[in-house]
Amino acid sequence: MARVSILGLGAMGSRLATVLLERGHEVTVWNRSDSERAAQVVAAGAARAATPAEAVAASPLVLMCVTDYPASEEVLAAPGVLEGLAGRAFVQCTNGTLEEVRGQLERVTGAGARMLSGAIAAYPRHIGGPETLILYAGDAAVFGEHEATLADLAGGQRYTGEDPGPMNAVYVSAFAFYYAALGGFLEAAALAQARGVPPREFAATLPGIAALLLDHVGDAARRIEDGDFSGDQATVGIHLAGSSRRLETFAGLGVQSLMTGAFVEYCRQALEAGDGGEDIAAVFTRITAGAAPGGVGPATVPDA
Ligand code: NAP
Repeated sequence: MARVSILGLGAMGSRLATVLLERGHEVTVWNRSDSERAAQVVAAGAARAATPAEAVAASPLVLMCVTDYPASEEVLAAPGVLEGLAGRAFVQCTNGTLEEVRGQLERVTGAGARMLSGAIAAYPRHIGGPETLILYAGDAAVFGEHEATLADLAGGQRYTGEDPGPMNAVYVSAFAFYYAALGGFLEAAALAQARGVPPREFAATLPGIAALLLDHVGDAARRIEDGDFSGDQATVGIHLAGSSRRLETFAGLGVQSLMTGAFVEYCRQALEAGDGGEDIAAVFTRITAGAAPGGVGPATVPDA
């Protein structure tokens, strides 16, 4: 069993601590305030450190999970923390931009610590699950040494390499997809409810559609990489017509339709570019081309 310290006991940090305690590890925790979550983690068996430096000193493996990177930098700047991390394995589980992650990796490594940056693709309730995904990048030896302990948090964990670039790209892009899909669900559930189908009943119909979507995603990715936009399945024009009719249905029921409207706008741009007879994956070329006149996105800067 390992000794692990956790700095930050919010919704995620407290769950990380609780799961490690459940798996029999010796856990030391520190939280900025005397929150109810912190009290619960201590009641479950964690040792409470009075300062972040004290928590760092307690274990060879130190995890941090606070709101954002500026907050994590504040904790690192507290007396004795950075010095205390020297020679230890530090796993930063706070979400940050690639620039923030790279900057902190450099500073912490420069101070003599070995660091992994983690990207948690899960909610607190999933921590400890056999397929839960946490991506890690950074010091390969840290991952190797602590792989078994970290696997107690996420059975589906993956080390993606020393450079955090690929991990960050996948994480940020995956959640761009996730949130567009979530927004689509909320909008669709509102439409279904307006027509008498309650959200749970509607949600129960979606696994089949989700399987179709994943199949489509694979086909679209292949088409984009191969430059094969032959409209042999369903063209931009067909998707545009169907989605436009859905917009009318939304409007008729007085339900908002921003997500569907954005998709219609992409299709309209593709149509205007002459791609109406191409596969819907051709919309990708409009997106990478930047904004069409009147569209949203990086506009062409006019000559001074
Ligand atoms: P949270 O519940 O809001 O907790 C935030 C934690 O950060 C608290 O322990 C808070 O301490 C601490 N904190 C904030 N500012 C601080 C500062 N300046 N100095 C010291 N401590 C500070 O957030 P969370 O949901 O646990 O999320 C934590 C991180 O995990 C975020 O980066 C988030 O993006 C990432 N994440 C969360 C989830 C999720 O589902 N929750 C999923 C994936 C990734 P106090 O208790 O004293 O306020």
